[in-house]
Amino acid sequence: MILDGKLVVKGIREKLKKDVLGNKITLAIVVVGENSSSASYIKGVMKTSEKLGINIKLVKTDENVSTEEMIEKINELNIDDSVNGIMIQMPLPKTIDQVKVINSIDYLKDVDGLTDISMGKLVKNTGDGFLPCTPLAVLKTIEYYDIEIEGMDVVVIGRSNIVGKPIASILTNKGATVTVCHSKTKDLKEKTKNADMVIVAIGRKHFLTEDMVNEDAVVIDVGINVVDGKLYGDVDYDNLINKVKAITPVPGGIGTITNTLLLKNTVDSYLK
Ligand code: NDP
Repeated sequence: MILDGKLVVKGIREKLKKDVLGNKITLAIVVVGENSSSASYIKGVMKTSEKLGINIKLVKTDENVSTEEMIEKINELNIDDSVNGIMIQMPLPKTIDQVKVINSIDYLKDVDGLTDISMGKLVKNTGDGFLPCTPLAVLKTIEYYDIEIEGMDVVVIGRSNIVGKPIASILTNKGATVTVCHSKTKDLKEKTKNADMVIVAIGRKHFLTEDMVNEDAVVIDVGINVVDGKLYGDVDYDNLINKVKAITPVPGGIGTITNTLLLKNTVDSYLK
C-alpha cells in the first residue's frame, strides 16, 4: 500500500478551512537574509496559507542581525495579540545563537514545536504543547491509514532534535517500542529487518534498501535529497514498493503534509 501524503493533507485542509472561516489568523515567519532553500519552503507555506485564508506576516532581517536584535523582534511578536504563531526559518547564520533565539519564542506561539518547553512537554507527554511539523506529519499519516501503533516495534534512523528524537518520543507516547539508530549504531540491518515499522530521516539518497526490511514492514521516508535537480528520499522506493506492507513515496509523502501542519498548529494556537 502506498501511504499517499496528498490524501492525508486533503482531510486536514478541509477541516482547517472550516476552523479559519470568519477568523483573522496570522502566522509570523522570521527570515534572516536570503536563502534559496528557505525561499522555496516559505513559498509553499504562503501558497497553502492563501488557500486556507490564513495571513502570513513576513518579518525579514538583514544577514548581519545580532542574537539580541533577533530576540527583540521575537519579543515584539510574542506580545502582539494579532500574531498566533511564530516560525523562524532555519538555518540561521552561524553568528546567531540559535538555541537562545528559538527559546525566546513564547511556547504558546511555538507552532514549529522547537523550543525546549515544547520539546519537554512532548517528552513528558503533557498533551498541551505543539508538536514539530515533520514528526507530526509522520503521526498524521499513521493515523490516517489506521495503523495500530501500540505494541509495534519501530526503528527510527536519525536522532536530530527536529526530526528523529521527536518522532521517537511521539511514538513512545503512543505505546510503540522504539529503537533510535544513528551513524554510530552497530548492526543496523539486524534491527531494521526485525522492525514492524522503519522510519528513515538521515538525508542519504536511497539508504534503506530491500535487504534491510521484512515483508510486513511499514516504511516511512522522511528524507529529502536533491540530486541533479531531482528529489529523492532516504528509501530505495522502487525496490521496496513490491516487498513491504506499506510505504510513503518521495515526493508525495511526508514532505507534502508538513507546511499544512504548521498552519494547523497556528489555527490551534488561535483557537486556544
Ligand atoms: P540531520 O543531519 O540533523 O540528522 C541526520 C541524522 O542521521 C543524524 O542523527 C545522523 O547520525 C544520522 N545518520 C547520518 N548518516 C547515517 C548513516 N549512514 N547511518 C545511520 N544514521 C545516519 O538531519 P535532519 O534530521 O534535519 O533531516 C533528516 C532528513 O530529513 C534530511 O533528508 C532532511 O532533508 C529531511 N527533512 C525532511 C523534512 C520534511 O518535511 N519531509 C523536514 C526536515 C528534514 P549522528 O547523529 O550519529 O550524526
